[in-house]
Amino acid sequence: MNTYLVAGGAGFIGACLCEELLEKGDRVICVDNLITGSKENIVPYLKHPNFIFLDQNVTEKFVVANEVSGIFHLASPASPNSKSPRSYIAFPVETLLVNSIGTYNLLELAKKKHARFVYASTSEVYGDPAVSPQPETYFGNVNPNGVRSMYDEGKRFGEAMSMTYYRKFGVNVRIMRIFNTYGPKMQKDDGRVISNFITQALTGEPITIYGDGLQTRSFCYVKDLVDGIIRLMEEQQAKGEVVNLGNPTEHTIKQIAAIVKKLTDSNSKIVYEDLPEDDPKKRKPDISKAEALLGFVPKRSLESGLEKTIEYFRSKI
Ligand code: NAD
Ligand code: UDP
Repeated sequence: MNTYLVAGGAGFIGACLCEELLEKGDRVICVDNLITGSKENIVPYLKHPNFIFLDQNVTEKFVVANEVSGIFHLASPASPNSKSPRSYIAFPVETLLVNSIGTYNLLELAKKKHARFVYASTSEVYGDPAVSPQPETYFGNVNPNGVRSMYDEGKRFGEAMSMTYYRKFGVNVRIMRIFNTYGPKMQKDDGRVISNFITQALTGEPITIYGDGLQTRSFCYVKDLVDGIIRLMEEQQAKGEVVNLGNPTEHTIKQIAAIVKKLTDSNSKIVYEDLPEDDPKKRKPDISKAEALLGFVPKRSLESGLEKTIEYFRSKI
């Protein structure tokens, strides 16, 4: 049995990870200050004998008495939508700090506990990519001081900090670049495209496509992603490696709107709004490294993942 600390464990991906770890029989210390996450996500585990919740900001110093075999650092606001109260644009300084000082504090903890460390980076480190699909060897095309820079540069700094601890102190670091992920436990007001479209479709509100809708994304169902995250933590050969995790099946945003409308049998009309600044035109992971190193293969199709997500949102609306 391993004891894992999950920073950001009350968020969308973090709570799904906690669930999977508990099901596997591991102990979980969930650390979260609930800035963008929700206690509701972890209510089912609060009475579980192997689950501890610490309401704690990881940018502040804190002590963990238990032995820890691995730390997953997923703590960070993650939505780019300035209209959402949960976006990194709503929490710009907090986003920079959690990916810099927060990463430093958690790496120090990993060093002290001789624990493995998995850092949640993002496809955003590739910015508006000039190559597609994006392999880990691509250095990206990022605006270093634009409206998304608190997140993009925060994550790039977090990667640099993690690799420094690997090279200088031998901390057993692994970095995952997560691509767009969706599924149950997403917040309906997080402003991301899947949650927006499903909520709009179910409530009869207009479905808001930003720009011409021809920009692309590649969406991974959260259970598939969590499988990859655990593989990355557990694989002996992954020390010091940077790995893309996502589903390479690419869609335009216009196609996503049409699929959501069909699956919800919605009468919502589709409206077009301005494209946000620095919105990447395409995004598709090259996952050959994750396949070879981790045996990672995302299994769930977009339609079936969306059906599960729609079912979840129906229960919340
Ligand atoms: P989320 O907002 O649902 O979860 C993040 C969690 O971190 C929240 O519960 C929040 O309260 C917590 N948190 C933030 N700052 C904190 C701090 N200072 N101290 C303690 N807790 C803090 O977002 P998510 O979608 O679950 O994303 C999780 C991680 O994965 C993030 O690091 C994000 O950058 C990364 N990621 C997500 C996606 C995606 O599509 N969801 C894509 C790429 C990368
Ligand atoms: N988007 C959209 N309508 C919405 C929300 C988002 O058209 O209501 C677009 C957004 O401009 C981007 C894509 O959908 O091109 C994915 O946005 P999201 O915020 O989910 O994630 P991103 O990949 O931009 O981080």
